[in-house]
Amino acid sequence: MLLLAGLLTWLTLEIFRTLLRLVGERAQARLALAELQIRLQETRRRSQEAATAQTGWNGYRKFTVARKTVECEDVCAFYLKPHDGRPLPSFEPGQYLTFQLDLPGRDKPLVRCYSLSSSPHQKEHYRVTIKKEKAPPDKPEVPPGASSSYFCDVLKEGDLLNVKAPMGHFHIDMAKTNPVVLIAGGVGVTPMLSMAQAIAASGSKREAWFFFGVRNGREHIHKAELEELATRHENIHLQVCYSKPGTGDARGREYQHEGRVSIELLKELLPSNNFEYYLCGSGAFMKSLTDGLAAWGVPDKDVHFEAFGPATVKKKAVTPSATETEHLAKINVTFSRTGKTVRWEPASENLLEFARDQGVKIDSGCCAGGCGSCLVAIKSGAVDYLKKPTSEPESGSCLTCVCRPKNDLVLDA
Ligand SMILES: Cc1cc2nc3c(=O)[nH]c(=O)nc-3n(C[C@H](O)[C@H](O)[C@H](O)COP(=O)(O)OP(=O)(O)OC[C@H]3O[C@@H](n4cnc5c(N)ncnc54)[C@H](O)[C@@H]3O)c2cc1C
Repeated sequence: MLLLAGLLTWLTLEIFRTLLRLVGERAQARLALAELQIRLQETRRRSQEAATAQTGWNGYRKFTVARKTVECEDVCAFYLKPHDGRPLPSFEPGQYLTFQLDLPGRDKPLVRCYSLSSSPHQKEHYRVTIKKEKAPPDKPEVPPGASSSYFCDVLKEGDLLNVKAPMGHFHIDMAKTNPVVLIAGGVGVTPMLSMAQAIAASGSKREAWFFFGVRNGREHIHKAELEELATRHENIHLQVCYSKPGTGDARGREYQHEGRVSIELLKELLPSNNFEYYLCGSGAFMKSLTDGLAAWGVPDKDVHFEAFGPATVKKKAVTPSATETEHLAKINVTFSRTGKTVRWEPASENLLEFARDQGVKIDSGCCAGGCGSCLVAIKSGAVDYLKKPTSEPESGSCLTCVCRPKNDLVLDA
């Protein structure tokens, strides 16, 4: 009798275990199917985009400022619609728009880039979010940033802008499902917001940790939108750091951590270092975090970053061979307008940075060979491109942000 009861209990348990396993397997299969469907959707979206891209544009296209909102102190968002009413090509989350501004009192147009802060799934408009650049604290006498002041102080709804199509290599791959960490400082939040929006809108369960550092509530860009994203999508883990919280800022309500986004915080919160990382913020912010990630054992290939100004974090360049370095060290670069001839410094990142170090002013925009604002005429000599520009300039000129001299060079700068 006892034996029979034991056998029955064992049988019941076995059936129960099998049922549990089957339910688990089903749930996993459902998840895998859901991920597959998301990938398929993404592939479909991409092929639709490829088709739409053909209706895209070359050069500048007119856009209307459909809406302008004040996001927080010195930061405005601009919702842009194509003036011709034709469809908007999609973009990769993280890419930027290039604007050409004809500002009064300037002899030539000003070219500036601004990251798209909206989701690529948003088909009605593009959005950029711009922070007005004040004069540097040590030079209060100089004017504030020309383009950002124009956008924030002068531009109004209904005005027209000249805009180049979305471009840039700093973007998330939406066909992948690996977990990501998005790290933003200040206005560097714009490409990250687009990435997080894209993950959320795709319906993917892709895990995304979003670390955002600002000084306090007055600088908390797109606060409501970020909070809504994190509340509605459990795979998006938002962690906001205030370095100098204001009196009305409550920890646990406005922000989660006091201090800056740091590698220590990442180590404390992330389950492992096994993520793909995307960073955008000030030079010092990115330097400390990229150094910290490298020391934590994150491979370079998993760390992507974008600087909004001259880069302080350098991508590891391919080290020239000893013969190459010897050749490069003998090259003379002449800036003919400035009347300067200088020996090329093999450690220089590119001609634009080298010129800046020599006190030679060359305009710049994207610093990635895309916007064309650093284009300079070559009077003699040749250059080597360190990175393929988005569109190769005509012979006789070069995009100084992505090239270095091949031999003695005379530039019209
Ligand atoms: C890919 C990319 C994406 C970007 N995305 C964004 C974004 O999403 N949002 C955003 O806000 N920005 C973004 N930027 C930065 C943006 O492109 C501009 O660089 C920024 O708005 C400043 O441009 P500006 O014309 O306003 O300032 P500038 O006129 O270029 O001035 C820059 C600074 O120099 C100071 N200055 C002016 N005259 C002098 C002088 N004589 N001596 C010393 N200093 C002087 C100004 O006061 C200011 O502080 C991005 C940049 C890149 C490359």
